[in-house]
Amino acid sequence: MKFLCLLEDVFFPAKCLNCHGKVQKQELFCASCRRQLQDIRFLYPTGYGCRHLDGICLLYSYERGVKTALHKIKFEKKRQLLPRAAEEIKKVCYCADLGANWELSENMLLIPVPTDTARFKARGYDVPTDIFKPWGEREELIWCEALERVLQTVPQYGLNKNRRRKNVKNCFVVRENVFGKDIFLVDDIFTSGATMEEAAKTLKKAGAAKIWALAFAGGAQV
Ligand SMILES: [Zn+2]
Repeated sequence: MKFLCLLEDVFFPAKCLNCHGKVQKQELFCASCRRQLQDIRFLYPTGYGCRHLDGICLLYSYERGVKTALHKIKFEKKRQLLPRAAEEIKKVCYCADLGANWELSENMLLIPVPTDTARFKARGYDVPTDIFKPWGEREELIWCEALERVLQTVPQYGLNKNRRRKNVKNCFVVRENVFGKDIFLVDDIFTSGATMEEAAKTLKKAGAAKIWALAFAGGAQV
């Protein structure tokens, strides 16, 4: 796999997924496109019916190069883009200055929203894990795969808000001790907020304290 990636680097050097111009190898976008695509938004959770979330921060708009990148990662199995997406997250989280906007505590847990089991098996990797874990390591957060999906769901895209909520209802269980913990909950896309809200509801039932949601891209409905 590594050898194939190296070959691909030689014959297909990394290009910006937005303008196809040159990029530093470890990034998705060139500096100019990054400035256009970064769209750091802090949302009020209750406005999205997310009463179990304490804050929501979206990092990029789900459009153009961001859409291309996530499509390649999720549906074309372009696993080699994951470290480049992780690099983008490190950069944009630094700009978002989360600590200035949220009341963050020490020893926070970083919990990914787990991918549906069938989709994980088909893809072979978990996108929220691979793109957010390196940022968590840099910030010295405690990585914790506390959530597990126990119900199969259909993909959320194409469903209206009500159907999205029904689709994910009771689909998670908590497998680790989260009692009294403050949590960063991370996912690749936030659209209606139904999945994040369901995950947060499950974590709060298990005793979690504050939950701050962080998504790489904010969907069109936001
Ligand atoms: Zn570009």
